[in-house]
Amino acid sequence: MPESFVTHLECSETGERYEPDRLYNLSRAGKPLLVRYDLAGVKRAMTKEKLRGREPTLWRYRELLPMRRDESIVSLGEVMTPLVRIAAKAGEVLIKDEGRLPTGSFKARGIALAVSMAKELGVKHLAMPTNGNAGAAMAAYGSRAGMKTTVFCPEDTPEVNVREIAAQGAHVYRVNGLIDQCGKLVAAGKEAAGWFDLSTLKEPYRIEGKKTMGFELAEQLGWELPDVIFYPTGGGTGLIGMWKGFAELEAIGFIGPKRPRMVAVQAAGCAPMVRAFENGEKHAARWENAHTIASGIRVPAAIGDFLILNAVRESNGFAIAVTDEEIESSLAGIARNEGFLLCPEGAATHAAYLKSLREGRIRPSDRVVLYNCASGLKYPLPPSDARLDLNAKIDFAAL
Ligand SMILES: *Cc1c(COP(=O)(O)O)cnc(C)c1O
Repeated sequence: MPESFVTHLECSETGERYEPDRLYNLSRAGKPLLVRYDLAGVKRAMTKEKLRGREPTLWRYRELLPMRRDESIVSLGEVMTPLVRIAAKAGEVLIKDEGRLPTGSFKARGIALAVSMAKELGVKHLAMPTNGNAGAAMAAYGSRAGMKTTVFCPEDTPEVNVREIAAQGAHVYRVNGLIDQCGKLVAAGKEAAGWFDLSTLKEPYRIEGKKTMGFELAEQLGWELPDVIFYPTGGGTGLIGMWKGFAELEAIGFIGPKRPRMVAVQAAGCAPMVRAFENGEKHAARWENAHTIASGIRVPAAIGDFLILNAVRESNGFAIAVTDEEIESSLAGIARNEGFLLCPEGAATHAAYLKSLREGRIRPSDRVVLYNCASGLKYPLPPSDARLDLNAKIDFAAL
């Protein structure tokens, strides 16, 4: 049996074919490349019964992953993340808690695959711009694989993220500019020093890692997809990946034609997809003066914009923006009432769920999945400074 069912890569816009087993960034048309598999072969090789006996990690979907050789796999223990049910008036609300992954965010999924393929194809030095979590994952997996890593982040990236990246072995620099200017530095370094650019959607394999979020969800729900998925959308890798993954699952006979409505959640201070969706546009214009506390979705321009908008439209979903106040309110409410500390981007999906219900855009009876994309512990928390004086009398009944 071949260890990989990859047949070729394909330009996501023009469909132009590319040979597998070579290093690529974007297609000749400047668009993301998608990995294609011999799905009839996968269908024969991978059965639901076979899956049952495998380790509960993303590597269980091996036949739908791109490595030629198992030795290429770079892993830090990518557990299947749990679905946590929270209170709902009707229907069902499940949070897929991606904060349990290595480096505390779902960036681990995409980067684990990208770094494994970079290793297989002989890369020695990786580089990327980051708002925090992607850089942390690249640093960790790069070090694990024995590669050099260089990371550029905007000046206002939280201290904890910069230190995490540095601690895990990357050369990390704060830059006095935004994420796209950091991206230009990577492009220049690629020319000048031969770095491999691991930026969002600028290499083909992060999508392959991110699609496993959708595989797991389907498997955990007994191969029955939910009615609605709320996804915190920055570069859109996860939304694009899951949409691709669902088609692959149908092609191998694991699910039927039913798809969830895909809802792209953005912050009111940076909502290029929402604006493009509402204006019926194919591409999204750059969002000027982007700002939000949800730094993972502070992405003013996404190279995969048309793929995000296609998935949202084909699924009969929509794009919706929530304010930072709504994000803070969901974050505080779910932590206090459910004991679940969401990250701000995860809280944005909860706020979007509430807003969609209020506005009648989803049904109260829907089964809904929210993605909590990172551990809430990676973010600054509201202060808590109550103190007790051991020398004073303590009124225990009041504590
Ligand atoms: C990267 C990131 C996102 C956005 O994910 P995409 O798939 O790139 O849209 C959302 N939240 C967090 C915490 C992230 O790190």
